[in-house]
Amino acid sequence: MSDITVLGIFVADISFSGNKLPSTGETILGDSYNVGPGGKGCNQAIAISRLGGKVNFISKLGDDDYGKLAINKLKKDNIDTSNIIISNKHKTGVAGIHVDRNTGKNAITVVRGAPSSLTINEIDTNLFKQSKIFLTQLEIPIEVTLHCLKAAKEYGLINILNPAPACKLSNDFFKLVDYFTPNETEAEFYTGIKITNEKEAKLAAAKLIDLGIKKIIITLGEKGLFYSDGKEEIFLKATSVKAIDTTGAGDAFNGGLAFGLSKKKSIKECLELANKVAGLSTTKLGAGDAMPYIKDLS
Ligand code: ADP
Repeated sequence: MSDITVLGIFVADISFSGNKLPSTGETILGDSYNVGPGGKGCNQAIAISRLGGKVNFISKLGDDDYGKLAINKLKKDNIDTSNIIISNKHKTGVAGIHVDRNTGKNAITVVRGAPSSLTINEIDTNLFKQSKIFLTQLEIPIEVTLHCLKAAKEYGLINILNPAPACKLSNDFFKLVDYFTPNETEAEFYTGIKITNEKEAKLAAAKLIDLGIKKIIITLGEKGLFYSDGKEEIFLKATSVKAIDTTGAGDAFNGGLAFGLSKKKSIKECLELANKVAGLSTTKLGAGDAMPYIKDLS
């Protein structure tokens, strides 16, 4: 039995850290690399598990070396892998990530591989009966995501949608979402409001609430986050850390949020926890591998 069900992709992240991001046509000498788990869903599941949460990961992998790496890594992190489909027709996904070690900023190409072929028929929605929280993103085919949000709602779960990467959503989506967690760029995509300060974050959140979403959390990178449910508003500054790689910070945040909600913490406590987990994740190279453990939080 898992308190939290995560639907999403696994990709093998190959991250290169260097003094700058290469520009078009340029070759630079980097100083370190990491091959580790990535993909928003996978990173979020790892974040939850390392905090002590019981998590079930629904995904699809290829029957290849990176697929084996995925299962080994996920099992090592105590994630329930029994609902991961292994396909011998598709490859496991891979991402190439360049990281500027001075700013922690990155540039990423993701090839999703097997999960891009996931269909509604492959998902056993009875799984949701056992869970309290459903967390997903927009890296899985959109009709599968919508189907799962509907099923989770029917079973009374709290739905968290991390709307990344941003893509056009029908109105059906919005009323199924309890927590909507865009970053600044995604919030701009969904509202048309460019967010550079707290006032603009408030305006964007109000616009999203008008669409039928219950609670909005706009993550603001090194500036922190803004929360609104239409009545209560909370602004939190980011944790003060030396960020070396911000890949997966949003995933750490969503994992922390899901874990906090599964423990029935107050919204303020959930946001503080998620903010801390996300801040800590930026102090290590990699995405899934950079997720902190509960002991790192004290
Ligand atoms: P994404 O990774 O999805 O683009 P953000 O960049 O908004 O999302 O980051 C998500 C969260 O990670 C922020 O709300 C904050 O809690 C934390 N975070 C991101 N960058 C930093 C940083 N440089 N220092 C501290 N915390 C950070």
